[in-house]
Amino acid sequence: MLSATHLKQQAAELGFSACGLAPAAPVDPQRAAELKRWLAEGCQADMHYLENNLDKRLNPCLLVEGAKTVVSLAVNYYSHQVPPATEPAYRLARYAYGTDYHEVVKQMLRRLMQRLGLEEGRDGRVFVDTAPIDEKYWAQQCGLGWRGCHSQLILPQAGSYFFLGELVLVHPADAYDAPMQSRCGNCRRCIEACPTGALRGDGTLDARRCLSYLTIEHRGPLPPEAAGSLSPCFYGCDRCAEACPWNLRFASDTPIADLQPREALLQMQNEDWKALTLEQYRQLFRKSAVKRAKFEGLKRNIDALG
Ligand code: SF4
Ligand code: SF4
Repeated sequence: MLSATHLKQQAAELGFSACGLAPAAPVDPQRAAELKRWLAEGCQADMHYLENNLDKRLNPCLLVEGAKTVVSLAVNYYSHQVPPATEPAYRLARYAYGTDYHEVVKQMLRRLMQRLGLEEGRDGRVFVDTAPIDEKYWAQQCGLGWRGCHSQLILPQAGSYFFLGELVLVHPADAYDAPMQSRCGNCRRCIEACPTGALRGDGTLDARRCLSYLTIEHRGPLPPEAAGSLSPCFYGCDRCAEACPWNLRFASDTPIADLQPREALLQMQNEDWKALTLEQYRQLFRKSAVKRAKFEGLKRNIDALG
């Protein structure tokens, strides 16, 4: 039996900003229907991996045999040193200035498993944005926050600049958290801030219109209307997050050293980005999630800045 209090204490000591637990079970029918509708409408664009393993995405017990508990954890990546997207300095999405979060958060989750005396494989698995798990749904079920209209999870009194990770464990817990209800109310600031109309108003987005998808995942030329909306962010976007009052009021600097922005990236000026070479790209983005866009993709985006 897992002690929820002990688990949360250990998570806090390791630098996680929030931690919650929910019983492992299929996602509720409303979320399952929403996800199927979203896929049927083609909102995943070319991210066909989202269509694969849908049965697992809808039920974490198919990812871990005998799963009893989902633990959702949040890791802050915000830094005030990254200029807002309202300034003219060319920039990356906020999350991309530090070391690749997949590695950083996975290491933190593994350390947490060790502290709890749990073994990967025998007692469960760790997940960071790599397996078909509905991470925002589970974060909401675990009481961490709610999925805002900008489609990201918002933590009350903290905002949405967080990576999410999960433990799916075969042990039941002595206490579970209650799901959190949305606190967006009548606000529509993120929807109004989105330059391409990608936000659908129900907490989902249409990736075909989203600059974050188009600058990172999309291969081939950028659609002209997207290219015209990029500046100043050429990898990711952040505009919807930066308009959100929960971020404007509560975002605070990450305590995780590896997620703090690299000085070399902060020093880059617009003309430096325009002249970026393959060698510089390799140095600047060693162990960085930006590698996902490849050098050619990054150059394509920078060239579109005009
Ligand atoms: S990341 Fe940018 S393009 Fe995508 S939904 Fe947010 S504001 Fe719109
Ligand atoms: S900007 Fe407003 S509507 Fe959008 S996620 Fe934040 S609180 Fe919700």
